[in-house]
Order: sequence, then structure tokens, then C-alpha cells
Amino acid sequence: MNLLALPAFTDNYIWMVHDGQRALVVDPGDAQPVFHALQQHGLQLEAILVTHHHADHVGGVDALRDATGASVYGPARERIPAPLHKLSQGERISALGIAFEVIDVPGHTAGHIAYFAPDWEGAPLLFCGDTLFSGGCGRLFEGTPAQMLVSLSALAALPGNTRVCCTHEYTLGNLKFARAVEPDNAALAQYQAECVAKRAADVPTLPSSIALELKINPFLRTRCTAVQQAARAFDASTLDEASVLGALRTWKNQF
Ligand SMILES: [Zn+2]
Ligand SMILES: [Zn+2]
Repeated sequence: MNLLALPAFTDNYIWMVHDGQRALVVDPGDAQPVFHALQQHGLQLEAILVTHHHADHVGGVDALRDATGASVYGPARERIPAPLHKLSQGERISALGIAFEVIDVPGHTAGHIAYFAPDWEGAPLLFCGDTLFSGGCGRLFEGTPAQMLVSLSALAALPGNTRVCCTHEYTLGNLKFARAVEPDNAALAQYQAECVAKRAADVPTLPSSIALELKINPFLRTRCTAVQQAARAFDASTLDEASVLGALRTWKNQF
């Protein structure tokens, strides 16, 4: 099977999995890149997985469903173009013969879900939308820092070799911020250099992995002393882990 990141808009990726005949896509904000890939590889679209309701994730759903008859899966608690298989925490689906588990990850939006395949081609696979990015996390449009902390902790607890497929190529901007938080993190400096080289060659920095994110992503490192100290230097009222995450998020918004 193949895993493709189809570029869309300025910095979105529409993830596609295909076996040479059938395909699934995740968060098709635009139908055109998907139609193009289906035609190019001679594929039938079977399933569309949606993580949350933002237009850059659902904009192409109706056109793709109408043209291909693909089944659409999405969060039970958000308004996604119907007909829809509504999903929430713990539910399982099979698409293209791949078993996915649904994880509730509120924070960026109130009903955001992620799709976790425990075994895909020898390692787990995660589609996490706008919750976890490489080196960062989504903005808190509809949720609280405490909710996001729980959501990110659930993703952080997945196996280290889980391939993390995020929807946006935000990595370089995130890493600039991460270095401001943890200037002495050597793994972070090395990863930043690798990602700068990838982007210069127009190569995606994704997928990442959970093991890597645990080493470099300040939003998964709110328990680390260096991260807590940096958050307190930004906002002296910062106490518990949720408020560390909240301070980092506010700091990043202004960065
Ligand atoms: Zn979003
Ligand atoms: Zn988005």
C-alpha cells in the first residue's frame, strides 16, 4: 500500500492511502487534488475520513462523494456534510481493509477526532488533523488548554513508531518557536536542520513520529522543567501542566 501527501491550498496535505486500485483520503478540503491523484494512479475512492468541521478539511467532501460514491466518516459532534458515518471515542471502522480506532481529541474544535490504525504496513498510522503538528499543536478555537492537554496526552501515549500524519505543513514555523522555548534541546536543533533541508528541496516534513515529537515538541513536553521554566518566564502565573500548555499556546499565537 502507498501513503501520499497531496498538497492543497497553501500548506494543507490531503493524506491518501491506496493499494493500486482503491483509495481513502483524509480531510479533503479541496476535491481537485484528489480527483487528479485518482486519475493519475487509476484509483477508485472508497472512503473519506474527516477529523473536524473546518472548511479547509471538508470543502471537497460533497464533490468527491457525488462523483465516487465513497463512504464518509466524521466526528459525531460536529456539522459535517451528510450522509455521514458518525464516530466518537473508541469506535472502530475498517476502510480499505485497514482497521482504525477513533480517538476523541477536543481542543482545536469541540468535537475533533483522530484516526489510529494500530498496524499499517508494519507500524501504526495516525491521522490527527489539526490537533498535533510536528513541533506544535492546533490553536484552541473551541476548547481549553486542559482539554488539549488530555487530547495531546492520548496521542503521546501511542507507540513511538506511530507515523503522525498532520494536515498542515507548519513544521518550520513551529520549530522556530520550539527553539525559543528550549534553546538547549540538541535533538530539536538537529531536527530543525533536517526539516529546513527538506523544505528547501520541496519535500514534506511529514509524517513525523510520536517518538520524535516527544523529544522536540514543547506542547508534548509540558512536564519538562525547561519547558515549564520558559512558560513561567512568559507568564508568571503559570502553575500546572494545563496552564503551561495554555501559556505556550498564547506565546506561540504572538510569536
Ligand atoms: Zn482546523
Ligand atoms: Zn486545518
